[in-house]
Amino acid sequence: MFCPECGESEGELIEGICKKCFLKKFKIFNIPKEIRVTVCPHCNAKYSEGKWIDSNIDETEIIYRALEGAIEVDSIVENEEIILGIDQIRGTIAESVVEAKANVFGEEIDQIEKVDVRLINNPCPNCSKKNSGYYESVIQLRADKRDLTHDELKSADIIISKNLNSFFKKDKLAYLSQKDKLKEGIDYYIGSLKSAKKLSLAIKEELGGIIKESPRLISEDKSTGKGLYRVWISLRLPIFKRHDFIKYNNKIAQVQSFDGKKIMATDLNTNEKIAILWKNYDSIEFLKEKEEINNTTIISKSPTKLQILDPETYDVVDIDINKNINEKYDNCNIDEEISVVKINGILYTV
Ligand SMILES: [Zn+2]
Ligand SMILES: [Zn+2]
Repeated sequence: MFCPECGESEGELIEGICKKCFLKKFKIFNIPKEIRVTVCPHCNAKYSEGKWIDSNIDETEIIYRALEGAIEVDSIVENEEIILGIDQIRGTIAESVVEAKANVFGEEIDQIEKVDVRLINNPCPNCSKKNSGYYESVIQLRADKRDLTHDELKSADIIISKNLNSFFKKDKLAYLSQKDKLKEGIDYYIGSLKSAKKLSLAIKEELGGIIKESPRLISEDKSTGKGLYRVWISLRLPIFKRHDFIKYNNKIAQVQSFDGKKIMATDLNTNEKIAILWKNYDSIEFLKEKEEINNTTIISKSPTKLQILDPETYDVVDIDINKNINEKYDNCNIDEEISVVKINGILYTV
């Protein structure tokens, strides 16, 4: 037996030729000279087997994954080591190199292949929607019988952009398509209804208020009879702000805080905490802003009465106080300053 290619007569033949000739021709791996990857230029999603997958992956990672996926290693090799490299990226072509080392029939061999990875830019359906200004919902931020404050506008903007960034990982339509400043408030146009609902709850959690949703039929698909709806989500912030004064259930109270569920207030007569659910908002009467709090001086103090100067008229006034309120002023001495507010002609300590 001798090798038909080199005439060698020593050793066994592999596939009809000697080991030396076999290894010379042998390839550790196969890979096409060119690999095409369809990628969305906006979100880097990759089109693969009829689906858009893996968005937000950086370009070099897309190239490495494409190379990895295209390599077919021969099953007879052992201990293979494969190194991927990108020589340079020219336009949409990544000139890449795949190097491999492996053992075959006890011999170490290596192989180098140059591969072009061609990135074909094609916007994915979600990014196409975004670019065309598509939106499923509008959040209308308003305030009840007043203008939105600068701080409220700023908070809402921050909540929207922060949350959209995190929602986008799972919801590719979590984007702000348009923002309209109007005399009566601000409108946020949001790509997906799902994200818009979550955003309105996140704003409510911070700024309080009442949410109302109204779907509107935009168009109807004649063949299926299915309608395309857009949902307007109105979020009306309360007329009062934190530390303003309100009346609820005949109690005069100061708003302390609120979250997405309820308003926490302190009864000015008893110093007791009360919680009011947002669904009862319409039963709340707004009395005064916290800016109307005044300072005055304690003239005398007993367990049931506090004598102070009316900060407007400088008259001496007796205020009836209960045990709770008295405890609040336990450490106050005569001539010390306290905060008061006048509501319907009556002074309350705050
Ligand atoms: Zn040979
Ligand atoms: Zn995209």
